[in-house]
Amino acid sequence: MAARINQSIQNTLWLLNPLHNPSKLVNPTPHFRSNPFFSSSSYRSKRALFCTCTSASSDKSLQDGGEPFVLTTPLYYVNAPPHMGSAYSTIAADAIARFQRLLGKKVIFITGTDEHGEKIATAAAAQGSDPSEHCDVISQSYKTLWRDLDISYDKFIRTTDPKHEAIVKEFYSRVLANGDIYRADYEGLYCVNCEEYKDEKELLDNNCCPMHLKPCVLRKEDNYFFALSKYQKLLEETLTQNPNFVQPSFRLNEVQSWIKSGLRDFSISRASVDWGIPVPNDNKQTIYVWFDALLGYVSALSEVTEQPNLQSAVSSGWPASLHLIGKDILRFHAVYWPAMLMSAGLSLPKMVFGHGFLTKQCFLFVKL
Ligand SMILES: [Zn+2]
Repeated sequence: MAARINQSIQNTLWLLNPLHNPSKLVNPTPHFRSNPFFSSSSYRSKRALFCTCTSASSDKSLQDGGEPFVLTTPLYYVNAPPHMGSAYSTIAADAIARFQRLLGKKVIFITGTDEHGEKIATAAAAQGSDPSEHCDVISQSYKTLWRDLDISYDKFIRTTDPKHEAIVKEFYSRVLANGDIYRADYEGLYCVNCEEYKDEKELLDNNCCPMHLKPCVLRKEDNYFFALSKYQKLLEETLTQNPNFVQPSFRLNEVQSWIKSGLRDFSISRASVDWGIPVPNDNKQTIYVWFDALLGYVSALSEVTEQPNLQSAVSSGWPASLHLIGKDILRFHAVYWPAMLMSAGLSLPKMVFGHGFLTKQCFLFVKL
């Protein structure tokens, strides 16, 4: 286990390198490994730590408070209270945020909770509460944990926040106006725990989801679809021209092979799920939880005092400098999300970093 965790932490921590610039970086690791700032012998006092990084940063652009460093953790799904895996991503993000602040950067560190979808409604019903009460309790348990761990986040977005819902509807309408949403019947195998239709070839025996080890169910629905396939070529070109967009590099290879194998349009609404944001102009359907939740990274930027709208949220700091995520949600962040942003005419985040899993005796810390 130790070796695996070590590697993940090393993968994550090279982002702390003061010489690191996501847009120019080619081979970041050697700087970090040789940096005395991180060696155990020099890690004795806060004063030394402070001085080292101030002198290490001779790049004025890092100190002038210009473009903010916008960093996000995943928005955690509130079907159950936080676990070690969520703490892992958040602690790593906190270290990066603190380091960027030491460099003199204005940092916007975003975290939050993803609160819609069938799994949440089911979890609430199992507890005898309604989804809204359930989300309040679990979302608060994340805030309490982050307070206890002294996590220095700047924004905490809940996807049930009215400002988020307004921005999701506006974004959906923009993508619709761009001709990238259409209606069709869909039949397929669905994993409720992933909230995702699966390809039969990626499933285990008895149509079991490889992540949740539970059988997927056959579903047929009349849904709205996002024309992901239209963006295949553009995504391929973007990744070729910006190889640092997905890090570490072996995850970039994974993403490129998914895209190369052919992108299929995906369903972005659910007729069978009530607990969600209604599709604009069709109250019988709700917006697919991932299409909704990814926009939390944008809606989090919107100021409390303003009337929420997409443009003002975007001008408050988008694009994100870094999405720090677990490798299990790489496809959503490195394929679906950039295509959605391209469709809406918005900039792509500068980097998606997929870290490994925290495991104990081979078991993954994850909510099933
Ligand atoms: Zn699953």
